[in-house]
Amino acid sequence: MSEPNRRLVVVSNRVGPLVSGGKAGGLAVAMADALKERGGLWFGWSGELSDSGTWGPVNRDVHGSGSTAITLATLDMTEEDHSQFYEGYANRVLWPLLHYRTDLIDYDPKDEDGYKRVNQRFATRLASMVGPDDLIWVQDYHYLTFAQQLRMAEASNRIGFFLHIPFPPPDVFNVLPRADDMLRALLAYDVLGFQTQGDAENMIALMLAEGGERTSLTTVRIMGRDLTVKAFPIAIDAQSFAELATTEDAQIAQARAERLLNGRQQIIGVDRIDYSKGLPERFKGFKKLLEDYPENSGRVSFLQIAPPSRGTLDAYARIREELEQISGHVNGRFGDIDWVPIRFTTRGQPRSALAGLYRASRVGLVTPLRDGMNLVAKEYVAAQDPNDPGVLVLSQFAGAAEQMTQAVITNPYSDGDVAEAIQTALRMDKSERIDRYQALMEMLVENDVNAWRRTYLQALEG
Ligand code: ADP
Repeated sequence: MSEPNRRLVVVSNRVGPLVSGGKAGGLAVAMADALKERGGLWFGWSGELSDSGTWGPVNRDVHGSGSTAITLATLDMTEEDHSQFYEGYANRVLWPLLHYRTDLIDYDPKDEDGYKRVNQRFATRLASMVGPDDLIWVQDYHYLTFAQQLRMAEASNRIGFFLHIPFPPPDVFNVLPRADDMLRALLAYDVLGFQTQGDAENMIALMLAEGGERTSLTTVRIMGRDLTVKAFPIAIDAQSFAELATTEDAQIAQARAERLLNGRQQIIGVDRIDYSKGLPERFKGFKKLLEDYPENSGRVSFLQIAPPSRGTLDAYARIREELEQISGHVNGRFGDIDWVPIRFTTRGQPRSALAGLYRASRVGLVTPLRDGMNLVAKEYVAAQDPNDPGVLVLSQFAGAAEQMTQAVITNPYSDGDVAEAIQTALRMDKSERIDRYQALMEMLVENDVNAWRRTYLQALEG
């Protein structure tokens, strides 16, 4: 049974905003909704850099009152903290490692120290704000060592962790310098949540190799502790996203796209610029479509919306340049005075406009080389017109592929495979499109973000 009076404490790198529905990013909405249901504390970085950093005052922002009041509590970081913890260890070591890109790891022991120091400082500050019955729910790869530090500060609470990105097999994970220490730090949690069954199994394999014993499908006993290790695939609010796609703002965006298309079909991609998203590979897949299936010439346009992220890191700047190059080349070679094959923009779009653009597109192209879940895949399906839906083309390496089996599944490492998958999607007849859409939508509504967070919190309550 749930005990509604146990206060929820959410820890994530960024805190807020307190919004719901289809308006904001997935993580923020899921956390805001969890806190609105039962009140609680949301703790993390303020987004500000200051000289006092984590030693400075806790910024507090209280919303509502009584048992459902929500407090947002944040700390600043110093510039050095941010560079070592966030840009260094989190994004140049853990991000590539956990996305299986060991070739891109850029390890510096100073960054590792900075990462552990920030975890320790944040955990110590939080420890003084929590009561013994509070449920603590820590988000993502920024805070792998957070529970260990809370335990050192004498916290005996139930502490859960959810990893939003993939978790690789032991041979890949063990590339991390001092991987043993990192595993030991993770054992301070009570629940380890992952996006897919495959990710959870990878963690269990790592634990078994270190002397753990599997006590059930989802529990492991190791070094005197019992942990729940389980998949909780993150989700969207499918119903509200579907509604968003029919609002006036969405219709305006849809009409604008359709005017420009002038009867052509649109393929859409929406991603942060990141090497895990397989964007150059995707562009080459589209080029191969024009080469292998020339009947699409003048009939199909590919719109890629790719806002830059973490622009200070070199790897990201290089991808952007590469994409500009490929799209320039494809447009020059295949385009015509009245047809631009690839339209590539790095401008962000309001969520309502995005929903309209998804709906204006016959194909949703989601082809990451590796991705924790990929919410764009779910949003694309939820935004479709039920009477004339488009088709999702999905990489077998997206976490979403485990659930979204009615998508056209493809291997993004082969441009020929991607071209063939797009062609299959473009030629699919309406009744098959409707069948696939209905099956996917049913899954999305049943397993929405509310179900996700309730299932997780149930496991955390023990
Ligand atoms: P990741 O978390 O790795 O960025 P996801 O696909 O899981 O990838 O989530 C990305 C989220 O960001 C989605 O909710 C998507 O709608 C949103 N998003 C991505 N690009 C844009 C954009 N250009 N404008 C608005 N929202 C975007």
